[in-house]
Amino acid sequence: MQMPNDALAELRGLTFAERPARWQHVPQSVALGIVAANTNRLKRHRSGESARYMFPLLRLDDVPLDAAVQPLDLHHVLLAGLPTPIVTDLWALPADLSTALMIEADDRARAVHARTAAVHERVRSGCPDALLELYPHAELLALQRDRTPTLTRDRERPHRADHVWLTEVTESSGEVVPALRWSIRVPDRHLPAASIDDTIGADVGLRNLVTLADRSQVWHVPRRAQVRSLPSTDPRSAAALLVDAQARRMILEAARPELEAALVRTLSYRRANIEALSYQGMRDHGRVPWAPGAMHLSGAAVWGTWVELLAPVTGTQVRRVNPAGTSTTCPHCGLLCVRPAPYDIVECPTHGAMDADEAGARMIRLV
Ligand SMILES: [Zn+2]
Repeated sequence: MQMPNDALAELRGLTFAERPARWQHVPQSVALGIVAANTNRLKRHRSGESARYMFPLLRLDDVPLDAAVQPLDLHHVLLAGLPTPIVTDLWALPADLSTALMIEADDRARAVHARTAAVHERVRSGCPDALLELYPHAELLALQRDRTPTLTRDRERPHRADHVWLTEVTESSGEVVPALRWSIRVPDRHLPAASIDDTIGADVGLRNLVTLADRSQVWHVPRRAQVRSLPSTDPRSAAALLVDAQARRMILEAARPELEAALVRTLSYRRANIEALSYQGMRDHGRVPWAPGAMHLSGAAVWGTWVELLAPVTGTQVRRVNPAGTSTTCPHCGLLCVRPAPYDIVECPTHGAMDADEAGARMIRLV
């Protein structure tokens, strides 16, 4: 496919008067940034296979952004074509994977420092017009120059690989929002191969974010922040979104050491059964309407995804288990238990009272 100049000009002129339905939830400014990013890609790849697969011929899930998306810090991403960064949750990953993205941010900051220094050198040696190269990018350069790089790329640690795609995810509220999908290379020896020949069960909840059970032991990750929801924010205000994101990060960080320890423990088992979360089910049948939001806010909901992200590295086989019945069945004899309010204990007619989360994790292990 050849991309003539007038087609490039047409791309630049896109206004999205009639955006495809899947793009409706992408803010106009972000959509225009994506057009600009892909127009730049088309300029670089005017012919051949790579050109054929680029926006606007693709579904939203398949839009490649790659170098047009750059992490700026744990809360911000730069998208080519936009003068201001997008607020993102790069912190809501296992710490090693967030760090991989921050190494990228530091690499970019170093490149900006070097580029500025090179232009200054040319100005000093009598070529003041060299400065004109910086003006068109002044705002972005200023943002990246503010970062003081401290991290360096290490092939032995997780690091950013080539690709990033624009996609979409369904939030606990049922709302579909745009998301970035990064590829991060995790070296083989970064985590030890799963060696415990047993299945670990993981119950995900509100009182305990995660409860793990194997053949003989039980571990809890208790909730550390007593908050169910945050006030809603104006999604058009990047500053308000940042305030909201910082509060959500603080809540996750309160439990992070224990969530990360539970992650490493789970990945040491050859098999892991993790409670599948159904936000729709929780809204329809749950006792507490705020449960989906609280699960999301606390970090309980994201933890299972962490396990799934890293399981290929350790070889752990992960199954998502439908929790139906697991909270009212005795893990020792299979009899139906009663679960009186406030629901933190189950009572087996034979085995008596048990911690409900522990019983749930044991049952999920056995399913
Ligand atoms: Zn029993």
